[in-house]
Amino acid sequence: MPVLTSHTPAPDGAPRPSAAPGSAGAPVDLGPAVALSCRECGERFPLSPIFACEACFGPLEIAYDLPTGDPGALRSAIEAGPHSIWRYAPLLPVPADVATKPNLHPGGTPLVRADRLAAALGHGGELYVKDDSGNPTHSFKDRVVANAVEAARAFGFTTLSCSSTGNLAGAVGAAAARAGLRSCVFIPHDLEQGKVVMAAVYGGELVGIEGTYDDVNRFCSELIGDPAGEGWGFVNVNLRPYYAEGSKTLAFEIAEQLGWRLPDQLVVPIASGSQLTKIDKGIKELIATGLVEDKPYKIFGAQAEGCSPVSQAYKAGHDVVRPVKPATIAKSLAIGNPADGPYVLDIARRTGGAVEDVTDPQIVDAIKLLARTEGIFAETAGGVTVGVTRKLIETGQLDPELTTVVLNTGDGLKTLDAVAGTTGPTAIIRPNLDAFREAGLA
Ligand SMILES: *Cc1c(COP(=O)(O)O)cnc(C)c1O
Ligand SMILES: [Zn+2]
Repeated sequence: MPVLTSHTPAPDGAPRPSAAPGSAGAPVDLGPAVALSCRECGERFPLSPIFACEACFGPLEIAYDLPTGDPGALRSAIEAGPHSIWRYAPLLPVPADVATKPNLHPGGTPLVRADRLAAALGHGGELYVKDDSGNPTHSFKDRVVANAVEAARAFGFTTLSCSSTGNLAGAVGAAAARAGLRSCVFIPHDLEQGKVVMAAVYGGELVGIEGTYDDVNRFCSELIGDPAGEGWGFVNVNLRPYYAEGSKTLAFEIAEQLGWRLPDQLVVPIASGSQLTKIDKGIKELIATGLVEDKPYKIFGAQAEGCSPVSQAYKAGHDVVRPVKPATIAKSLAIGNPADGPYVLDIARRTGGAVEDVTDPQIVDAIKLLARTEGIFAETAGGVTVGVTRKLIETGQLDPELTTVVLNTGDGLKTLDAVAGTTGPTAIIRPNLDAFREAGLA
């Protein structure tokens, strides 16, 4: 059993792991997951609630015994599965009977053919929006949390926790309520009201921290190292390898919804960079299992200018990401010290993509553009991806004649403030036809 020292670096720059129930080496059933593997040096460790390599402190990810023998049979089994992320259980760190356990059954969200948005953006090829706003707590975070819950169950944790920019707190609160676990989540105290209410309503403990997300994350590191945090599963810290795998289901769904085919280009938002990194891992596993044909694909990362450490590093040609202090309306993406930043840079460069950023006014414009062309009301993170897509087309970085998928990862009802100041009734009139005509509405 590897023991991590206090020198171990952590996701988003802080926490170190704690001992946990079930970490004494007893075999756990997490389906096809066989080990943890270091992203840097390849060293393997038994499945346990750790996240950093004992040898080199690199991040750990899940290694699998993947079903590579018969792609046709695997495809049929998936297609016969539940209408949720659990249809992909053979490719996730979860037990085979996961769908029978009490959980929120996220996923199965629409891939919307966005012809009217395409026309507005000058995109002549197929353009799709993967609209993840319809998940149980209205963001993509339900996908990752559902995977972390299975790991928490397997390792015997009784309290589910996280450091959150908002959406994660709600997803953890809801998932814990459904699973019958205690929850205690930590957020920056100044989040949007919609996110605070979402996080609080499920009845777990919700702690506002006077500081930024990065301060929240640092605080959680102290808690993990303290007896007060013993038995706690922090979904994005000591359960991070399991949590992160949930993002692969976005790649799986997109490929299946395209008829088991990969898109040419994907535009993905970046907070810690975990989602983008695991979408790439998911695509590689689709290819490795023969579920899709191998072909080139480009992954583009999207940030808000007010929190664009990865975009800045990309443009400067750097391999390392210098932390920033966030100042943007895209609070769900406001991580100034993104743990997976260097891997995002590597993926964008290796696949021929790019990392771009847009200003807050451009985010607002893009939210309204998506709403008016496609009837999809995105949270600020969706404004970031749509705004960045527009910028990538204008600057010639994204090929508008190919097949492109843009991610909307959250619901606009959670970030009403972003657009409330510039939207509202077209007119307010007395209830009669004269007034209607006078207002020029006839
Ligand atoms: C958390 C989040 C993301 C991506 O987060 P990563 O840390 O990069 O995985 C994207 N969009 C929304 C709305 C989120 O809440
Ligand atoms: Zn290592």
